[in-house]
Amino acid sequence: MVGGFRIGRIFGIPIFLHATWFVVFLLVTWALSAHFAAIHPGWSGAASLLVAAGTALLFFVSILLHELGHSVLALRHRVPVRSITLFIFGGVAVMERDPESPRAEFEIAIAGPLVSALLALGFALSARGSAPESAWTSLADWLVRINLGVAVFNLLPGFPLDGGRVLRAFLWARSGDAARATRTAGVAGQWLAYGFIAFGALRVLGGDLGGLWIAFIGWFLLSASGASIEQATLDASLAGLRARDVMNADVARIPRGVSVGQFARELVMRGRRWALVEEGGAPFGLVSLTDVKRIAAEDWETTPVGAIATPIAAVVTAAPDAPVREVLHTMATRGVNQVPIRDGDKILGAVTRETLVQAIELRRSLATGAERG
Ligand SMILES: [Zn+2]
Repeated sequence: MVGGFRIGRIFGIPIFLHATWFVVFLLVTWALSAHFAAIHPGWSGAASLLVAAGTALLFFVSILLHELGHSVLALRHRVPVRSITLFIFGGVAVMERDPESPRAEFEIAIAGPLVSALLALGFALSARGSAPESAWTSLADWLVRINLGVAVFNLLPGFPLDGGRVLRAFLWARSGDAARATRTAGVAGQWLAYGFIAFGALRVLGGDLGGLWIAFIGWFLLSASGASIEQATLDASLAGLRARDVMNADVARIPRGVSVGQFARELVMRGRRWALVEEGGAPFGLVSLTDVKRIAAEDWETTPVGAIATPIAAVVTAAPDAPVREVLHTMATRGVNQVPIRDGDKILGAVTRETLVQAIELRRSLATGAERG
């Protein structure tokens, strides 16, 4: 859930409002104004609506503070935070990567519910200082309950809820196996999700349409935990692998003086999409069919590939000992299809999407074989 309207930047983190946020804001304001009108018969319709809108706004500020709680701890543990988005089910802080230790995972996870609990306490204290029938008391009372609700709901032990992350941190600390901990916490998340769906459905059958919302949250949790389990399985199948283990040493190499036309014909004949350009046996750059397409056909025979190649200094490369998971991450974040594996002045081979898929499938079939044996 990334994207929407950017409303600002806090601690360098861009904050977004997703389109669904506006729907929830209107629904919450509408429901609250009915609630306030019922407990304050003396209030005008406009007054109820105004207090309701203020309460809804403070509710979303509370959610934002919850996400900032996670984010501040993440930054302290050197996990970059890409964005915070407020959407239909609350908020989400998108982190660049997983924390490096169970302790960091625990601290980042617990910070959100802790902020919500402190907000509940703060609103409770502020209500004690104002008159019982005042607008602030009504507003604060509701915010105490909703922030407590947010803290308790998020502490439920199903990944990727905060409580599920706490569970994952605990399992990870005990076994030392992060991927297995994610899978177990993810399965707990799926059971929790089924529970929500069943509970919501029973409420609907009993005549309470609010159950629909609970079932909807369950469905969202189900898809999120399923995605986490898949990611953990992928991580586990790549764990321990180094770039040199999965790279393809058979890289097309071409001297920089060769014409673009000759290069294109050879590449197509050999079924390749890119080649390493060399100068006197040393790497000079990387050239792909995309680079060729930028040159007009009539210039193909007079232009050397060296002129259209990406210089080697600008090419994304990896060391032979780089973990494959890191190489995969680089490919995703830098938007490249191949990462040449470089050892000093030599290119040993390249990791491509195809070599990664082969490595994952080989690992999986070996793992299944071992379990059956
Ligand atoms: Zn949270």
